[in-house]
Amino acid sequence: MSMDIHTSLSAHKVSDERLAEILADPGFGNYFTDHMFTTEWTPDQGWHDARIEPYGPISLDPATAVLHYAQETFEGMKAYRHADGSIQAFRPEANAARMARSSHRLALPVLPEEDFVQAVDELVKVDARWVPEATEGNEKSLYLRPFMFASEAFLGVRPSQHVTFMVIASPAGSYFKGGVKPVRIWLTEEYTRAGRGGMGAAKTGGNYASSLVAQQEAYDHGCDQVVFLDAAEGKYVEELGGMNLYFVYADGHIVTPALTGTILEGITRASIVELAGKLGHQVEERRFGIDEWKSGVESGEIVEVFACGTAAVVTPVGELAWDGGSVTSPAGEVGATIRKQLVDIQFGRSDDTFGWMHRIV
Ligand SMILES: *Cc1c(COP(=O)(O)O)cnc(C)c1O
Repeated sequence: MSMDIHTSLSAHKVSDERLAEILADPGFGNYFTDHMFTTEWTPDQGWHDARIEPYGPISLDPATAVLHYAQETFEGMKAYRHADGSIQAFRPEANAARMARSSHRLALPVLPEEDFVQAVDELVKVDARWVPEATEGNEKSLYLRPFMFASEAFLGVRPSQHVTFMVIASPAGSYFKGGVKPVRIWLTEEYTRAGRGGMGAAKTGGNYASSLVAQQEAYDHGCDQVVFLDAAEGKYVEELGGMNLYFVYADGHIVTPALTGTILEGITRASIVELAGKLGHQVEERRFGIDEWKSGVESGEIVEVFACGTAAVVTPVGELAWDGGSVTSPAGEVGATIRKQLVDIQFGRSDDTFGWMHRIV
């Protein structure tokens, strides 16, 4: 059964001229489309009052639970305009399933997967003119941000009895302007991201809040991103603040840290497991020691390191730096090939042999 969505269209849509200016250079997360989707949940009514309305500020009571206890989850995904004029999303049902898992961990109600996908589809249809044209080498798309939060005004500590789910959308420019650029990664030995039984596998703002001080440490050391080790032993590589990692060996096999419950299960990561397998790489998902990274790159056994996630797809890691040393690795063919194959599927330039694309328009 599908949701009944009440739509009230904006009387103040961005003009075509202004939209063309925005889409020429959208950057990331700067501009938002004309509309937003909202639905609300209470124990008595379940999910109700689904609506699309003009984009704008929402008013919250200062006692709203999410502002105090961070009970929230979010998703990040993209819609792409294809050459045939269609607009397609990449594996939205995987985002829906992940939000359901995140919501379970955050004691939030689960939004049915078909409702999640319908909400995204309907918003994209209403704001279809915001999906940029893309060309090879200029990977513009519409970034979609579904999120759910505790919206009850109550300071007691218990799962919220009023929950809001929204979807907003923002045009996104090419992550790498003027070609893919390797990133420098800072190894934090002071901070961790997630512990056993914690919420490392949930996509929730709290994980980002806890990563920011380490991210600042990375910037202070001239690095772009931070890598976290496991909290128990401080020995095993987990992931970056918002991206998963891959290691390519000279003999062609590739390794990515296993999903131990403290790592976010990236949809890009999962897609690469399948894609790399099809390209003939043996893919190992296992615990991966930080010493293996350092010595593997130094000895030449590891020939490439790359990070992956929705925003950048695949980003080569050019350097790992820590307090007292660093190792450098070149950007390589394997990451570049995987990146091109994924991006070509997303933008409809190659056959969707995995059945990953979901047509919206
Ligand atoms: C979202 C996210 C990723 C990447 O997931 P994708 O589904 O590939 O975009 C990786 N790590 C963290 C912590 C994340 O929040």
